[in-house]
Amino acid sequence: MNRLITACCLWFIGQAPVWAAPVEVDGVRLWAAPDHTRVVFDISGPVEHTLFSLHDPERLVIDVPAARIGASLKSQDQAVGMVRKIRTALQDEGVLRIVLDLERQARPRSFTLKPGGQHGHRLVVDLYEIDVSQKSPVKKSVKEEPRLRDLVVAIDAGHGGDDPGAIGHGGTREKDVVLSIARRLAALVEKEPGMRPVLIREGDYYIGLRKRINIARKQGADLFLSIHADGFRDRRVKGSSVYVLSRRGASSEMARWLAEKENSADLAGGVRLDDKDDLLAEVLLDLSQTATIEASVEVAANMLGELKRLGKTHKSSVQQAGFVVLKSPDIPSVLVETAFISNTSEERKLRDRRHQESLARAMLQGIKGYFASHAPPGTHLAAFEHVIRPGDTLGHIAQRYDVSLNRLKGYNGLKSDRLRIGDTLRIPPAGS
Ligand SMILES: [Zn+2]
Repeated sequence: MNRLITACCLWFIGQAPVWAAPVEVDGVRLWAAPDHTRVVFDISGPVEHTLFSLHDPERLVIDVPAARIGASLKSQDQAVGMVRKIRTALQDEGVLRIVLDLERQARPRSFTLKPGGQHGHRLVVDLYEIDVSQKSPVKKSVKEEPRLRDLVVAIDAGHGGDDPGAIGHGGTREKDVVLSIARRLAALVEKEPGMRPVLIREGDYYIGLRKRINIARKQGADLFLSIHADGFRDRRVKGSSVYVLSRRGASSEMARWLAEKENSADLAGGVRLDDKDDLLAEVLLDLSQTATIEASVEVAANMLGELKRLGKTHKSSVQQAGFVVLKSPDIPSVLVETAFISNTSEERKLRDRRHQESLARAMLQGIKGYFASHAPPGTHLAAFEHVIRPGDTLGHIAQRYDVSLNRLKGYNGLKSDRLRIGDTLRIPPAGS
């Protein structure tokens, strides 16, 4: 990724005298061509600028020294061609930073134009489509596709070791029952094609909360799920609840992540922060954390829906709190309080193998429900889909993906051989 950033780095030096008043960028026009999108900034005088690309998500950053933004360019939400959005911010020392949020990766080219016709000075940025067919020839069979990875589910059994967590009136310790449930969930995830579990805590020992996050990140987790069992002084309180990080927790956390750049340098939403200035880092981290919380809420809602089938939940909606283990800026994170260990009947249930298994199944269904429509690119889950085109038959599709016809039908719950163009079939793993 860094290599690409460097490769995309271009320098253009104009004749702007450093002592001049700031140049004003007072308009932008966009055009979408079949092979590129052109962005033209109207400027009040000649400028110099630098340009670099950022990936995941794709962005192009344009820095213009000694410049400021005109009123008409303050907000530009209009999506044209490859540009989804244009944002601007004034940096230290009067550098104007313009960020183009892109639909997909682009090859940028930029140049300035002197006044001509009805226009004054302009800065032109062309975003060229990257020819995918040249980069990697179209593959004929799924087996030749680039290597796909498993979706990684990090399962965190709360507490452990010196920290027993909540203790029930019958002596049941939270750390023990949540580890049992976590192990059961891991076993279920293991059986799912295209999914891999990571148990953050594998035995009766304590792991610091930040370390739990770091283990998940090192394992490339796509989801972080922390399992707990509530304790409360009122024994009557019962039912499970599902938490995600609150925005308040997130915003104070952001400061922390920024302060610990060396920790966050490995990844924050796919963006390296160590070589960015603070303002950009903050903007990027904010976007990343916002997206992550949104994803977390969706997973959590799925999970809560499944847990409701097991009995009345404590709260009927997803709760938000500033739990440290939920503070990954880039991994959707959910904390499940499976039950109240302080409630006598729930304490008994928490010890019951069948109930532990039901809880694990409910969480698995919640995870599957979410990733069925949000499989991360590059995972088996994302690849195992086929959109029905004219002329497709079930037999052809089964042959093409090397699965039996019955398996394909069963996997998709198909009762007949009829297919509808545009529908999506899920493809079971090859050879199954
Ligand atoms: Zn707990």
